[in-house]
Amino acid sequence: MSTLSAFAAALAGGSIEVVDLTAPLSAQTPVIALPPQFAQTARFELEELSRYDDRGPAWYWNNFRTGEHTGTHFDAPNHWVTGADGDDVASVPAARLVAPAVVLDFSAEAAADPDFLLEVEHVRAWEGEHGLLPEGGWLLYRTGWDARGESQQDFLNADETGPHTPGISPECARWLAEEAPVVGLGVETVGTDAGAAHSFDPPFPCHAALMGSGKYGLTQLQNLAQLPPTGVLLVAAPLPIVSGSGSPARVLALVERG
Ligand code: MN
Repeated sequence: MSTLSAFAAALAGGSIEVVDLTAPLSAQTPVIALPPQFAQTARFELEELSRYDDRGPAWYWNNFRTGEHTGTHFDAPNHWVTGADGDDVASVPAARLVAPAVVLDFSAEAAADPDFLLEVEHVRAWEGEHGLLPEGGWLLYRTGWDARGESQQDFLNADETGPHTPGISPECARWLAEEAPVVGLGVETVGTDAGAAHSFDPPFPCHAALMGSGKYGLTQLQNLAQLPPTGVLLVAAPLPIVSGSGSPARVLALVERG
C-alpha cells in the first residue's frame, strides 16, 4: 500500500484524527484594537446577495468584507517592515503550509499571569523532555486564551495601560526567528506578540524577528488542548491574496490516536 493510501485509510478508520484549530469567522470574531492614531482592521461582515428569493430564486450567497488579519489568520513575511521585501501571502510556497508541529502548554502560567512571556529557557526545558523543535515545523504556544474567544473584551483583556495577553520575550522571539529550526509560531491570542509588546525593546519583537527572517505567524488558534505535545501534522491554508500581507486561514491538525 502506498504511503498516501495508508494515510487515507487511517483517516477513514479514525486512527488519524483531524482537529480543527480555526475559530469560527463571524461579525462577533474578536479583532485587534490599535491605538486611535493608527488605521484599524475590519471585523468580518457578510453581505447577503440572495437567499432563494427575487435576487436569486434558487441560490443563496454572500459577499464578505474582512481584514486580512481577522480571526484565525496567517501572517506573511511582508506584514512587517522588517520583511517588506519578503513573500506576500500568495507567494508563500505551498509545501511550507503542510508541516510538523509541537505544542508547548503554558496555560497554567498564563492563567496566573496574563502578561506571561515565553523565554528561551522554557523552550529548552521543553526540548529536554520532548525533543528538539521540528525542522521546518511550527511551535504552537498554548496559553488557554482560546477560552476567551467569545468576547472581544475578555480576548483583548485591556485596561488603562493597554492589553494584557501572554506572548514571547524579545530574546525568545529573536531566538525563534534566527536560531530555532521552526517555520513559524502559532498562538491562541489576537497576534503573535504579547499584549504589552508595544512597549518592548524592540516593539512587537515576534513580528519584527519572525517576518524579518522570512518566517510566519498563525493567530487565534483554538483546540490546542486536544493535541499531543509532539507528533502533530499541521495544515495552514491562507487564501492566496496577491500582494496580501496575510489572510484568514483554515488551520487543521492531524493527530494519531489509539
Ligand atoms: Mn496578523
